[in-house]
Amino acid sequence: MSWPSNSGVTEEQRKDWADRYAESDAAAGIETTEDFAPFIQRNDMFTRAFWDDTVRSKFTDGFFQSYRMKAKYRKGDGFRQKDFALRNASWLISDIISNRGADQGRREGFQAPIACDTPVAEAQVEIDDPAKMADEVKRIAKFFGADLAGITDMDTRWLYQSRVDTRDFSEAENDLPEGLTSVIVLGHQMDQELVATYPSALAGAATGREYSHEAAIVIQLAAYIRNLGYEAVASMNDTGLVIPYAIKAGLGEYARNQMVITPEFGPRLRFSKIFTNLPLAHDAPAKLGVEEFCNQCTACADACPAKALPFGPKETSAPEAVSAIRGVKKWTSDAKACFGYWAKLQSDCAICMRVCPFNRDFTTWKDRLWLKLALSPWRKWALAWDTKSDRAKRMKPKDWWQEE
Ligand code: SF4
Ligand code: SF4
Repeated sequence: MSWPSNSGVTEEQRKDWADRYAESDAAAGIETTEDFAPFIQRNDMFTRAFWDDTVRSKFTDGFFQSYRMKAKYRKGDGFRQKDFALRNASWLISDIISNRGADQGRREGFQAPIACDTPVAEAQVEIDDPAKMADEVKRIAKFFGADLAGITDMDTRWLYQSRVDTRDFSEAENDLPEGLTSVIVLGHQMDQELVATYPSALAGAATGREYSHEAAIVIQLAAYIRNLGYEAVASMNDTGLVIPYAIKAGLGEYARNQMVITPEFGPRLRFSKIFTNLPLAHDAPAKLGVEEFCNQCTACADACPAKALPFGPKETSAPEAVSAIRGVKKWTSDAKACFGYWAKLQSDCAICMRVCPFNRDFTTWKDRLWLKLALSPWRKWALAWDTKSDRAKRMKPKDWWQEE
């Protein structure tokens, strides 16, 4: 079996990236090495489950079918028909969007950007204050339903080298309009009670609901920008890696559980993005103290049933970790082990989100106090406080359903 090689990065490109991003990368805690290369989307674990025989199994096929009313209902709490029913209903709007271009191999929002039904207006609104415009765009993102919004540079390192044609899972051109300058990153909070029920099919409703929300929000915000006479491409997991964009947009910091920890919702959110040429001021990234906390905490790695999370410090991934981006110093999961567990569950798992000490309700003063301690030299004390509490305890799905 052969994978496409990570080729195509020229010395000139490397130098340009280093000149442009060394300072903001350092501020964001992003470290790349000499063998950095943008990711080839065909290699992500969900796509490999269709074309790579070392990943594909009756379990991975069953996982995808379970989202099409062919789940294996179990008597176990959280995996009954009604649990799968709520999960699948939550995904529906996202599914409608992602299925509409299936005959052209464009699974919109996942393996192709979301096609915009709104043309770019011929008349262009004049923008003389990009900072003011940035504030306005963030306000409008929140009006449409986003919980967080940040803006960063159109950093091409995080775009996929190629996207996937879902008709045959071959590489397809990752085509974007010319001249895009900014990425607007939106955060979408997941329901705290549903997240507390991981692992369960019921908990997957927290994921599906946000994908459905974000699909609507990015389409609407992109339509607003296009009505102003500027280009805007609505995107969910497609086109590029959202995590580095979220970090560079100042929304949070990367953690051991592979998630971005935000001061507002901890790791309990999903991100979407819009690529645009609308003149916008960019946000500055900042290290919050999450890495220092993760360096002394292993709650996510300890709780992972698939033993898929690393225990040590950040490092670059091994070449055989096909589903990890090459040449970035970070915590990297064993994606095959993780997805293997999801496949057996027939639903997504986010135990590593549930148990993370940053998974709290920061509208309460106690949790805000905890956050202050966790991001300060008192972090050991904050970890001990968390370990003694029952915050990470799983909620029984039947309690969520309010059954006797
Ligand atoms: S999602 Fe579940 S299986 Fe995957 S790394 Fe997290 S805890 Fe482990
Ligand atoms: S559980 Fe602990 S180590 Fe894992 S991401 Fe959260 S804070 Fe970091």
